[in-house]
Amino acid sequence: MADWYCFKDNVKLEEADVVLSYVLLNEFFTGLKCPKCGVQYLPEEVVMTEVAEKEKQLESK
Ligand SMILES: [Zn+2]
Repeated sequence: MADWYCFKDNVKLEEADVVLSYVLLNEFFTGLKCPKCGVQYLPEEVVMTEVAEKEKQLESK
């Protein structure tokens, strides 16, 4: 995963579980969290892969 920095604190974001509420999904994904201010960020690559995968699973049920 690429390095991301908090735009406010300019510190490196750490990996963290990020809750994403999306349509019927309310899932934890591996996102990024600022150790200083606690802002959470879900990188687009996670959205494109993990979230898309969950959607596929839901649709096939
Ligand atoms: Zn921050």
